[in-house]
Amino acid sequence: MLDVREQVPLAPLTTFGIGGPARYFVDVTSEKEIMQALHWATRKNVRAVLLAGGSNVLVPDEGLEALVIRIAQSAYDISGATLIADAGCNLCELIGKTAAAGLGGWERLAGIPGTIGGAVRGNAGAFGTEMRDIVVWVRAVDMESGEVREYTNEECHFSYRMSYFKRNPALFVTKVCVALEEVPPVEAQRIIEETVAERERRHIQDVRAAGSYFMNPVAPKAIQSRFEKEKGVAARGGRVPAGWLIEKAGLKGARVGGAQASEQHPNYLVNTGTATAADVRALAERIREAVQDAFGVELQEEAVVLGRDGRTVR
Ligand SMILES: Cc1cc2nc3c(=O)[nH]c(=O)nc-3n(C[C@H](O)[C@H](O)[C@H](O)COP(=O)(O)OP(=O)(O)OC[C@H]3O[C@@H](n4cnc5c(N)ncnc54)[C@H](O)[C@@H]3O)c2cc1C
Repeated sequence: MLDVREQVPLAPLTTFGIGGPARYFVDVTSEKEIMQALHWATRKNVRAVLLAGGSNVLVPDEGLEALVIRIAQSAYDISGATLIADAGCNLCELIGKTAAAGLGGWERLAGIPGTIGGAVRGNAGAFGTEMRDIVVWVRAVDMESGEVREYTNEECHFSYRMSYFKRNPALFVTKVCVALEEVPPVEAQRIIEETVAERERRHIQDVRAAGSYFMNPVAPKAIQSRFEKEKGVAARGGRVPAGWLIEKAGLKGARVGGAQASEQHPNYLVNTGTATAADVRALAERIREAVQDAFGVELQEEAVVLGRDGRTVR
């Protein structure tokens, strides 16, 4: 029996800490419950919106006139060097558990908030490691047809912060299988700690934000060369960091209301305490225009910006 609640505050369920309530809200723990929740939303004539760890979403100030379905499945199983985890498992906890079991290969993802399902959808990555490097298969429910199937790594069509699931929002990831390698637990733990310390050094991680707000764009050759000369690192795949472009466009530290482009990492749009979703969106727009004017480069959101009816607006 589904326990659908009404007017559930969403701000505390997101790392931004911003946004109004969900008109309807339900936790689901099985594929059967997902389907029940979808039928419920259809009967009520409202959109179903998936929420997992809430670390990459901006909820509108008025809240969502929708059924928010939060994935609460969080069982996992380690067999040999293979991990099979429910989509609702916290990514960092899994990296820690597998390290303790003498398995690694994904330690550089330590510190990325949210669930393993959310990480698959956005092909989350850091320090040169991405989800696509270790995913074997992904199980997903098609919320339109009800079909449940497993997708091989190839079928996930992973690319930079992109996957088949992100392109097809009707797919609800329910399980993920990853292949790891044997690593002494002490060594795996050392890499995790090093990674988390490096993240903290680059930017305090305990902030009200959604991580990088914009994706790193592919830039014209001249801008790539300017970046490479200044930073002494290659523009991988022709992409330059959005944070660098924002800084060069003069908007490091820029504010709109309570939202600020971080002084330390300008691609983190931070809720300094009083930011509204409107503040964040206005700041994002200002940044987009400034970067377009300065470099002719269009920034695209990595964060999922939701409209009142639950549709993604950017
Ligand atoms: C401080 C901080 C640092 C960050 N650093 C990084 C980083 O280094 N690298 C990086 O890649 N990201 C980073 N992020 C962004 C974020 O952590 C990732 O995008 C994360 O993978 C999102 O997972 P989530 O469970 O929180 O998803 P949510 O924010 O809950 O959802 C994001 C989107 O994914 C969809 N979704 C979630 N779960 C599923 C599912 N099971 N099936 C289908 N769709 C789903 C949601 O509907 C939504 O559209 C950072 C965020 C913060 C706050």
